[in-house]
Amino acid sequence: MTNRQVFLDHLAQTTDFPLMIEIERAEGIYMYDPKGKAYIDLISGIGVSNVGHRHPKVVAACKEQLDQYMHLMVYGEYVQSPQTKLASALAQTLPKELQSVYLVNSGSEAVEGALKLAKRFTGRPHILSCKDAYHGSSHGALSSGGNEIFKQNYRPLLPGHFHIPFDDLSALDQINDQTAAIIVETVQGEAGVRLGSSDYFQQLRKRCDETGTLLILDEIQAGFGRTGKFWAFEHYGITPDILVTAKGMGGGMPIGAFISSKAIMDSLKENPILGHITTFGGHPVSAAASLATINIIQEENLVAEVERKANLFKSELNHPAIIEIRNKGLMMAVAFESFDILKPIIDRAIELGVVTDWFLFCDNAMRVAPPLIITDEEIKKACKIILQAINEVLTN
Ligand code: PMP
Repeated sequence: MTNRQVFLDHLAQTTDFPLMIEIERAEGIYMYDPKGKAYIDLISGIGVSNVGHRHPKVVAACKEQLDQYMHLMVYGEYVQSPQTKLASALAQTLPKELQSVYLVNSGSEAVEGALKLAKRFTGRPHILSCKDAYHGSSHGALSSGGNEIFKQNYRPLLPGHFHIPFDDLSALDQINDQTAAIIVETVQGEAGVRLGSSDYFQQLRKRCDETGTLLILDEIQAGFGRTGKFWAFEHYGITPDILVTAKGMGGGMPIGAFISSKAIMDSLKENPILGHITTFGGHPVSAAASLATINIIQEENLVAEVERKANLFKSELNHPAIIEIRNKGLMMAVAFESFDILKPIIDRAIELGVVTDWFLFCDNAMRVAPPLIITDEEIKKACKIILQAINEVLTN
C-alpha cells in the first residue's frame, strides 16, 4: 500500500477532498515532497510556522530539552524550567494585567480554559461571542463559534452562549451584568480576515468595564507577530482580561495558553481545587520550542518587517481578478469573485509550487499568511506564481 492509500484508509478524514500533498522534509518557507519538489508554504501550516519550518534555534531547543526530560508530571505541580522560562518571557511581552500564564496543548483548549475561568471568576452564566468567529472545534469553543453551518449537526451545544455581530457598536449593549465574558478574535481569521475599528475595540473594553464582564481576546491566529505587533491588541490600545494564544506560539510544536491577571487566574485553584487541569499542558519540549520562538521573533526583529512585507505582497498581487485584499500585517485575505474562480487558482498554484488555501467561513478569498521570515525575493517569487496560476486558469 502506498502512503496515500494508508492515509485514506486508516487516518480519519475530515473532508472528501483532502489536499493530499505528501511532504518528506520542511525548512524555512519550503516543504519538499518525496521526489524533492519544493513547495512554498504561504499559509504557515495555518498560522503556525511564523518563524519558518524547523528554525534551527527551535530544533536546537527541542533537542536540548529532549536530552533533559520529556513529560514528568501533570501540569501545575512540578517546577519545570522550560515552563517557568516561557511564562516569564511571555509576561515580558505583555502588560502588567496579564502576568499569569496557564499552559495547554492547543488553541481550543486555551479557549476552553478561558471560558471556564471567566465563568468561575465572575460567577455569571452567559458567554457572548461574535458572528462568524472561529474559536475551535471542541464543545465549548464550538458553542462560542459564530458559524451556524459548522454547529447545526452537533447540538446540543453549551447553553448560555449568545452571538453578536463583530465590529458593531450598536450590539455592545447586549453585554450586561449576566455576561461572564465576551470572547472576540482581535482579527477575525476564518471569517476571511475581518478587522474591527479602533473605536469598536475601545468601546468594547469600556462596555466590559461598565458591566464587570471579562474581555477575552483570541489571538490564536493573530498573535506572535503575525499582524505586525507581537500581540494584535497592541494595535488598538486596549488590554484584554484574558488572552488566548496557540498556533505560532510553539514554532511548530503543539502548545497554547490562556493568560490573565493572577487575581483572576487564582480562582481556578479553590472551591473546588484543581478547577482546570491538564496532563500534557505546557509539555517541556513544546515549552522550550516556544521560548526559542519568542527569542527568534525578538532577535531577528521579525515584527518590524511585517508591515513592509505585507505591502510588498499587496503591490505584487496586482491583477484585475483580485477584487480586494484585506489584511492586518501578514494575515491576509486575497478576495476573488467566487469560490469557483478561486479553487482552480489555488489548485494550479499548488502544482506550480505555492501552497495557499481559503478560509473556513469565506470561500472566495485566498489565505496568505506566510512565515514571517519570508524574504522580499521569496515574496516576489510566490506572487509571480500566483499571478501565473490566475492567468492560466482564467485563459483556459
Ligand atoms: N481560535 C482561532 C482564532 C483559530 O484560528 C483557531 C484554529 N484555526 C482556534 C481558535 C483553534 O485552535 P486549535 O485548532 O489549535 O484547537
